[in-house]
Amino acid sequence: MVPRSSGANVGLTSSEMGEISKKLRNEYLRIRAEDKGYNEEDVIAMASEDRFNDLAVKRQNHDFHLARLAEIQCAEERIRNNVFGNCISCGNPIGFPRLSQIPWAKCCTACQEKKECGNNRRREFKVLGE
Ligand SMILES: [Zn+2]
Repeated sequence: MVPRSSGANVGLTSSEMGEISKKLRNEYLRIRAEDKGYNEEDVIAMASEDRFNDLAVKRQNHDFHLARLAEIQCAEERIRNNVFGNCISCGNPIGFPRLSQIPWAKCCTACQEKKECGNNRRREFKVLGE
């Protein structure tokens, strides 16, 4: 059994939490500004001009952005629920060094490498609510 510390967002000081929240917010705004999405017109134009690759790239970027936005929203929800900073797989603290690099990380490095993080993309897209 993994011992769980009690208290808010374990293993992180309030200034570390502040830094992480700021990074999450900035990344969210950056993606929002950057992502242009794609629409039916793009699909038609690119198909007719034989630009399938352009469309594929655009679509891939958009999907990536949506997934990242969902990850950020999940991280913010974990902050609100005071469970932020714990690996969702093993329950150990993820640690500030990793979180400062990847503030939306759900798993510690060990679980990430073991691929025990789970992939709930489908569910997360729903969380985004768009
Ligand atoms: Zn873990």
